[in-house]
Amino acid sequence: MKERIQRLQDEALSALQQSADLKDLQNVRVRILGKKGELTEIMKGMRDLSPEERPLVGSLVNTLKDEFEAAFTERQNALQQEAISARLESEKIDVTLPGRKQITGSLHPVTLVTNEIVDIFSRLGFSVEEGPEIEQDFYNFEALNIPKDHPARDMQDTFYISEDLVLRTHTSPVQIRTMLKNKPPVRVIAPGTVYRRDSDLTHSPMFHQIEGFLVDKHVTFGDLKGILTHFLNEFFGEGLGVRFRPSFFPFTEPSAEVDIACVICGGKGCRVCKSTGWLEILGCGMIDPAVFNSVDYDPAEFSGFAFGMGLERIAMLKYTVNDFRLFFENDLRFLKQF
Ligand SMILES: [Zn+2]
Repeated sequence: MKERIQRLQDEALSALQQSADLKDLQNVRVRILGKKGELTEIMKGMRDLSPEERPLVGSLVNTLKDEFEAAFTERQNALQQEAISARLESEKIDVTLPGRKQITGSLHPVTLVTNEIVDIFSRLGFSVEEGPEIEQDFYNFEALNIPKDHPARDMQDTFYISEDLVLRTHTSPVQIRTMLKNKPPVRVIAPGTVYRRDSDLTHSPMFHQIEGFLVDKHVTFGDLKGILTHFLNEFFGEGLGVRFRPSFFPFTEPSAEVDIACVICGGKGCRVCKSTGWLEILGCGMIDPAVFNSVDYDPAEFSGFAFGMGLERIAMLKYTVNDFRLFFENDLRFLKQF
């Protein structure tokens, strides 16, 4: 019996030392002191001993128990300390590391140029107007001197919702809505989304335009030229070459297209300007008397001009973006550059 106790003592103490974590340690305790533990078994066996043997074995058992408890507590403390150290090590924060940046959104290049154009015209006394994207035939065509049989109504170009409703093909209906609401003088800039049944490398079925118009007494083509030249110099830089070419639009007479000296090559000729040195940038003209008639303005008393431009094209030239489609792909790598 003495030998058995001695052997158990050696075994138990070495098991405690070898336990790798707190769970292991508890298992050793259960194996020795649990209900069916080895030391418990020995104590149960003591009742079969002779009265002479009992005190000796009893004292050995008590010593073993005391030593085991002491060793257990010591090992437990050591393992707890180890666990804390390991945790501290794994949760250590390196305060010298640079912080993680928050990803912030940025304005789309089309929004940026819209804001800048609105800003320039606001300083000239223009105010912003907006209109619906689903538009009645009257505002989108009829009132703008585009009657039912006009080629601009070609089914190829217009998204029809019903016979009378279209997705607006330009921002010009805002002219009609504004003039029907207000008597001259009016000075309005109208940015917005427009739709055409057109989709290829340089066209998207949805794109953006900005429209401007001014109506008052004695407004001349000279005023139109002056304001647009001022705008283009503000937007693209002082000293920019600007030229007006005769053109045709149903809602203006006379009409012109405006070119600027190529912003890529400075007028020397390159791929973008097709070696002409000029870039077409906007359309404009004096508002046609037929348009005034449809909004009840007297063409004998009032005159005015209107102009419109595509905002994606303006953004392409402003930021020298060479592919129209980049504006619609919403690739963050592209958008973050502005
Ligand atoms: Zn060029």
